[in-house]
Amino acid sequence: VSPSSQITRAQLERWAASICDVAQIEAALAAGQEATPEAVRDILFAARAMEGLSPAQTAILIQTQSSELRTEILHTARHVHQQAYGRRIGLFAPVCPTNRCVDDCLYCPLRRSNAMLRRTMASPNEIQKEVKDLLDEGHRRLIIVTGNSRSGVPYLRDMIEAICGVGQGPRRVQRVDLNIDPLSCEELQELKHPVVGTYHVYQETYHPAHYAALHPPGPKADYVARLTAHDQAARAGWSDLGLGLLLGAGPYEFDLVALVSHAQYLHREYGLRVHTVSLPRMIPAKGAPASQEPQRQIDDETFLFIVAVIRLALPFSGLVLNTPASTPLRRELYATGISEVMTGASSYPGVYTADGDPQAGGKLIIGRPRPLETLIYRMCEFGFVPNLCTACYGRHRREAWSGSIAPRDLSSEFCAPGAVLALKEYLIDHASAVSQPVIEHTIQQELARLPKEIRTKTLERLEEIEAGIRDSLL
Ligand code: SF4
Repeated sequence: VSPSSQITRAQLERWAASICDVAQIEAALAAGQEATPEAVRDILFAARAMEGLSPAQTAILIQTQSSELRTEILHTARHVHQQAYGRRIGLFAPVCPTNRCVDDCLYCPLRRSNAMLRRTMASPNEIQKEVKDLLDEGHRRLIIVTGNSRSGVPYLRDMIEAICGVGQGPRRVQRVDLNIDPLSCEELQELKHPVVGTYHVYQETYHPAHYAALHPPGPKADYVARLTAHDQAARAGWSDLGLGLLLGAGPYEFDLVALVSHAQYLHREYGLRVHTVSLPRMIPAKGAPASQEPQRQIDDETFLFIVAVIRLALPFSGLVLNTPASTPLRRELYATGISEVMTGASSYPGVYTADGDPQAGGKLIIGRPRPLETLIYRMCEFGFVPNLCTACYGRHRREAWSGSIAPRDLSSEFCAPGAVLALKEYLIDHASAVSQPVIEHTIQQELARLPKEIRTKTLERLEEIEAGIRDSLL
């Protein structure tokens, strides 16, 4: 651990230059435009080995214009995604304790100068009411999402403790991820908690000029501080890190190459594999002028293609869908690369209990985020496996990320049966009669896909679940 006081500005700038070397990325993009169809096909052949892509290979694929080659890219991404994740889709819900923010990002309705927004900050009791509703619904994994509220680590710790204080036994929150603004090494050490999982910081855009244009003066205007947030976390001992882009904030071709370069940097410097990549699209919102510019809207076809290229570049990183998408598009995304879904693309304090004021959301979706059962029903109906398993995630994930267990083994030996067991618990404890048949059908299909030895063990655990035992693990 390097205390923040010992990390100089010059050091942060050196790290930032290693993460995102603008000249190098632009050179890779220029070279990528010259790539032949053979070069694209060679990359796709190599990608099937599940070793990922270099930034230069990413630059070639993301700029491919031929519709025939783009179809081949989508097709290869589906193959790689199937190898890495099967048909499992992880599910988690956002909790937004506050909509206060000292920053003024031009694309965000929570920006400090949006006077239309009613600002609010949940107390521990209020957050517990929301979490109780989520637990009753069947959620086990949450993510705390805040802007730059400057409420500090004590408030975040109070929120985490409040969330952990709800429920007991199997009906409790088993994992809480954090999507918060960058913290120092010391703050991140203070924030460590057994239930806390991934630390997400989205760069929004890696392109310095586009970043500067969207971020008026405020803490988030410091591009270097944001870019090195994961360095601070790694040095504070965090191994579970999430990257993210706001699609529409900058040139997506540049951003994808930079994101892959960032992932490689974290692996090279700290031995860490990026756990998740989140890909929200900019959506028009009142009070957020940049979000209303038509050229910033990423259409469905481009979005799907971006997901495919990232899936090939980072085969074992979870790709998170946390942006509105139509049902047909979701289906394509789940098959091509998305492995996790946040159940509300927009949320605000009090949204679950209906105590909140929709004016506090400031976004398009007014009302409660999608009910969990609807999502689960839809996924099963389409042949996907909703994954509520957090147990094996917590126990084995670190081994996988540190390299002592191959991600592919983690997927087949732990995640596939874990998803079946968690789905069975959901079926018995939460599902209505309408959903039960389709969920049971999914369980049986997934069981049939398991290797014989693992299937036998899974069947034993399923019997235990039927007898009332919970938190079963292989
Ligand atoms: S993007 Fe985050 S930091 Fe920027 S205004 Fe919105 S909540 Fe604040």
